[in-house]
Amino acid sequence: MALCALPMYRGCNMMVDVNIHEVECIWLMPVDCALRCCWVVTNMEVVHRKWRSESARLYHRYHALAPEIVPRYFNDSADIKLPLELISEMPELKENPFHQKLLQVFSEDKQDNMSFNDFLNMFSILSDLTPQHLKAYYAFKVYDFNSDNFICQSDLEVMLGKLTGDDELSHEEVQLVCHKIMEEGDLDGDGKLSFADFEYMITRAPDFMSTFHIRI
Ligand code: MG
Repeated sequence: MALCALPMYRGCNMMVDVNIHEVECIWLMPVDCALRCCWVVTNMEVVHRKWRSESARLYHRYHALAPEIVPRYFNDSADIKLPLELISEMPELKENPFHQKLLQVFSEDKQDNMSFNDFLNMFSILSDLTPQHLKAYYAFKVYDFNSDNFICQSDLEVMLGKLTGDDELSHEEVQLVCHKIMEEGDLDGDGKLSFADFEYMITRAPDFMSTFHIRI
């Protein structure tokens, strides 16, 4: 059973990825399964408490970015958004070479603004509690720099430039690295990486989880 804190579905302030069918089935289990039932309920409560405290902590950080705009205490009806430039100044983001695209991916209004919900979603996905398949989904969006739903040669070149610094590798070296990545990941041979190609590559890169992670 999947039991983990999962960042957020839209519109939810807390999300726990539990197979609901299995939870419902607990009540039909024989007595010797009571231990399992206790484990699930206890862990759900722990996850719920942890996520509530994380949400409060993140709201405090969001408020601190613009105390004159963001109320001190969370108000669900408030339609408040902060510009991405302001959020990109956070030390945790500033050091990340992909922070600009990361912010754009999570900006719901696509007008370079971020609501608290967007902010919460972003840091939830980047937390170490998020399952790999969900991280992979958002990582693909981040690395798809031209937003054509594929990671193509030009996306890989941008990615390498950000990772190594624009002048670190020669043009030939960049081409060689991109070619090797494409050769390894492009399973259907169409010259670009689909999400399926990308996800398959991720499963063979055990350190991926740590790279798509920001602790705030
Ligand atoms: Mg692309």
